[in-house]
Amino acid sequence: MPSSPQHAAAPASADHRSPTSGAGPAACPWCGRPTDDVVQTGARRVCCRGCGVQLTWPWPDAAELDHAYADWYRPEGGRFSGPGDAILRVTRGSTAWTVDRIAPDGVVIDVGAGDGHLLDALHRRGREAIGLERDADTTARPDLRDDALDELERPDGGAAAVVLWHVIEHLPEPRQAVREAARLLRPGGVLVLACPNADSRQARSFGDRWLAWDQPRHLVHFTPRALEDGLRAEGFEVRRRGHLRAGQSVFCALHGLVGRVPYAGDLYDAIRQPEARQTPLSGPRRALTAAVAGALLPLAALAAAGEALEGRGASIYLEAVRTGATPTSEPHAR
Ligand SMILES: [Zn+2]
Repeated sequence: MPSSPQHAAAPASADHRSPTSGAGPAACPWCGRPTDDVVQTGARRVCCRGCGVQLTWPWPDAAELDHAYADWYRPEGGRFSGPGDAILRVTRGSTAWTVDRIAPDGVVIDVGAGDGHLLDALHRRGREAIGLERDADTTARPDLRDDALDELERPDGGAAAVVLWHVIEHLPEPRQAVREAARLLRPGGVLVLACPNADSRQARSFGDRWLAWDQPRHLVHFTPRALEDGLRAEGFEVRRRGHLRAGQSVFCALHGLVGRVPYAGDLYDAIRQPEARQTPLSGPRRALTAAVAGALLPLAALAAAGEALEGRGASIYLEAVRTGATPTSEPHAR
């Protein structure tokens, strides 16, 4: 997604020189390998030689992240104009149906619950569910907790499912989050996870302009292999994998295609409420962006379906079961 103003001003290494050591954590937050020999892969990304995840590099500091998540990003009136928020509700309904179908009886924990759309959809299915969201208004929504994952008490008997829906890429310590999910889940409980695929066709073809890098908010950019290796090491068994179910594939393809059309504006800004845009967009230009997007939609849908069939879809979708096996990995340096 579009970068913040700070990102534009951040030191970039577009000429692919050796990345600055010390510009991020000393060890890979996924596999624990020291980051002193990472490889530059994009204007603001490096690749870990240990596990193959890419890291946002330089890693953002607290001030940059504060700005990136400031009120403009998720205003009270909703992020999207027109049918955007309605579409979000429908897709959350579909995710809720899946989670409810595959999880054993018990409570579902949605990590990074946002506006609570998934919780609402789970409640409608009669499923007990709680969500974690920082700075949540827990009075208005008693099903939300303003807790970090490691502060959450394990439900009696363990949770039935933990959902990390386009969340893990935002976390500075994703491996720790997976361990916490394992702690909260009962044996047989399910981890349902979606995130962008750094090894997708779109990531390659759109390069630094790919929407789903979403820097600086996305810190760790996973490949399916790195993700599955890590989950197995933490005692999970991957039962189902895919691409399209994780959403965003068609939209990211469309965003990239529209971005290649001269004079068309940024599609992601065009669908957001005026106060939620990164850059102002005039009415006529927004109309042009929408017209171009409409014309290119069939092509984007075809491209997204094709890359998913090929196993190189823009998003990763995984269902992994907590087996009860002892994790094989040593906790890495934090
Ligand atoms: Zn690594």
